[in-house]
Amino acid sequence: MSVPTDSRVSFDSRFARELPEMAVAWQADDAPAPRLLALNGPVAAELGLDPGFLGSPEGLALLVGTSVPDGAAPVAQAYSGHQFGSFNPGLGDGRALLLGELTDVAGRLRDLHLKGSGRTPFARGGDGLAVIGPMLREYIVSEAMHALGVPTTRSLAVVATGREVRRETMLPGAVLARVASSHLRVGSFQYAAATGNQDLLTRLADHAISRHYPEAASAERPYLALFESVLSAQASLVAQWMLVGFLHGVMNTDNMTISGETIDYGPCAFMDVFDYATVYSSIDRGGRYAYANQPLIAEWNLARLAETLLPLIDEDQEQAVALAVGVLESFRPRYSADWLAGMKAKLGLPDGVEDEVASPLANDVLTLLQENHVDYTSFFRGLGSVVRGDARPARDKVLDVAAFDAWAERWLTLGPDADAMDRVNPLYIPRNHLVEEALEAATAGDLDPLTRLLDVVANPFEERPGLERYAAGAPDDFGQYTTYCGT
Ligand code: AMP
Ligand code: MG
Repeated sequence: MSVPTDSRVSFDSRFARELPEMAVAWQADDAPAPRLLALNGPVAAELGLDPGFLGSPEGLALLVGTSVPDGAAPVAQAYSGHQFGSFNPGLGDGRALLLGELTDVAGRLRDLHLKGSGRTPFARGGDGLAVIGPMLREYIVSEAMHALGVPTTRSLAVVATGREVRRETMLPGAVLARVASSHLRVGSFQYAAATGNQDLLTRLADHAISRHYPEAASAERPYLALFESVLSAQASLVAQWMLVGFLHGVMNTDNMTISGETIDYGPCAFMDVFDYATVYSSIDRGGRYAYANQPLIAEWNLARLAETLLPLIDEDQEQAVALAVGVLESFRPRYSADWLAGMKAKLGLPDGVEDEVASPLANDVLTLLQENHVDYTSFFRGLGSVVRGDARPARDKVLDVAAFDAWAERWLTLGPDADAMDRVNPLYIPRNHLVEEALEAATAGDLDPLTRLLDVVANPFEERPGLERYAAGAPDDFGQYTTYCGT
């Protein structure tokens, strides 16, 4: 089906063309009564799409996938993945479609992808659908991550479909339109490797190099350089997650991108009280994806990526393994360096403070937060006040005041810069209780709390009057927070 749309919507289908073995041409389900719930003006502008058009009936049909512009060839992507450590060769987009690629106003190629658009050949037992709450949740959290400066897929729109979806109760269905620099995952490489088709694997690797790491093409060993680039991007990404207190929740290899963007916001959440062992996901009973494990899991996933690339790295497999292991061993020092640089910034430390001083200082403050059950985000923001002479916003949160004072004395001697700290320690994150409040209201038809929350988290560092409740930690009666997959 092809209908006239805004003349500027011009899709390519490069993924499907270059990697047809990993693309199944598919159509979205019908949406009986599409209704726009959220539209991202800045992302639309980046893509050169007119928000007025996107809100029109033709625009909504594009955003739910029921009308496909000329040139677009929507596909469900095939991929594999280690889910909680077990390999599943046959995953893929069970409820999603890649509409195609758009060239944005900066000349970058961006995927436009729909989630919740109906069953595909990869749906297995699933219904292929999504409901309003979780799609808006991805919208809120991904936009907050972007505003915090963390690489991420973006959300263009959430459209209610007018269809009821069976979950524990009947809930209103929705489709999320999301934008990514690509949807290539570690699981995509696992899929290509598992087919045993080296030509496919080579095409996939070349496609990834061309889209994300073009400089790797001229390296002595391009596929080793690809691996190193992904590893470096992921070390940096996970360091940033740790620094903002973000838990991805389901770091399966199919949810780890080649680009280094955060993807697939399912059971994710921002940590309230600091605790290394934090787990929110209902299905993560062993704590595999606990906060403190995220760097280790990233490294584990990268080892899985390396395995797929071995045949391309060197004909001599022993040599290929040695080269890949050499790169893999650089993950920990890279991650640690990225994390420590971020911690130095959060603590406002001037240039020249040695790592040997900064590292124990950072680790000790986290131990203090852990032992005293302190809210992570508001404590770090409060440290700016300590530098300005009012210790209360941080000190009052810590039960063991003597321990705080001893730590603060060590830290203040180094001459931290309060203004620099305020530029990196957010005041406003999507607090779990506020996200839940906004989603509940939106599901019941009231979009005001959602609109306000989106507005607040889009500008996380600048204090604004009247927003005190958005900066506060979870209320005591909020209790243990639980998040869910596949909703
Ligand atoms: P996720 O944990 O959300 O990354 O999803 C893992 C796999 O399950 C992917 O292959 C998804 O496409 C698939 N999936 C999740 N929810 C559904 C659903 N409701 N219907 C069909 N497939 C789904
Ligand atoms: Mg996924």
